[in-house]
Amino acid sequence: MVLELCDVVRTYRSHESVRAVDGVSFALSRGEWVALVGPSGCGKSTLLQLAGLLDRPDSGKVLLEGLDTAAADEATRTRLRRSRLATVFQFFHLLQTLSVRENVALPLHLNGISGREARERVDRLLARLGLEQRGEHHPHQLSGGQMQRVAIARALVHRPALILADEPTGNLDSHTGDEVLDLLGRITREEGATLLMVTHDPEAARRADRILVMRDGRLAGTTA
Ligand code: ADP
Repeated sequence: MVLELCDVVRTYRSHESVRAVDGVSFALSRGEWVALVGPSGCGKSTLLQLAGLLDRPDSGKVLLEGLDTAAADEATRTRLRRSRLATVFQFFHLLQTLSVRENVALPLHLNGISGREARERVDRLLARLGLEQRGEHHPHQLSGGQMQRVAIARALVHRPALILADEPTGNLDSHTGDEVLDLLGRITREEGATLLMVTHDPEAARRADRILVMRDGRLAGTTA
């Protein structure tokens, strides 16, 4: 399994205590595309943060490629985050001062991959995402759909096991969103990565292999 959550609980303690994730278990296998849906406040972001190793559960296990990440130290979790995970966000989160090529290459630098191999990987992904003419452009010169395609290239360039997508079409019109989802789904599959996608959009969720429905911190159901 690429990602496995076993009875995960995460409680926020501010003025009142909120069980944002309340005993969630599921497993994602290699190459799977799974959508996570549910009303606002049901715990989707918290779950994504736990899967992304940005947060730790109060109890339960988060296994990434079989490794118990809750028990791992911060240095190990940071290394795993850099090398095995990637995130695609609603608002793209590209660095405005860097070119498209430099944005896509960033995860390679963080993983100590440079030179010819880095250039070849970046060029290959830019071409597959139809961005071969855009390498020297800066994000402000691109459309929303193009920016999200750059973000997809950046997510895949270091060959992560798991891609976490947070409303990847939330800031795109429906036609562009469709195109971006096609590319995200297809290229993720071709690269053998697993995709966990939070979305409010039922059309987007239907594109996944499987839908996890969350309600009040729990998994309320799953649809194939
Ligand atoms: P979703 O992404 O589905 O909208 P969240 O994971 O953001 O849900 O939130 C789940 C619950 O946890 C909500 O009740 C929310 O108010 C609460 N919550 C989220 N983040 C925090 C926080 N940092 N501190 C306190 N409560 C939080």
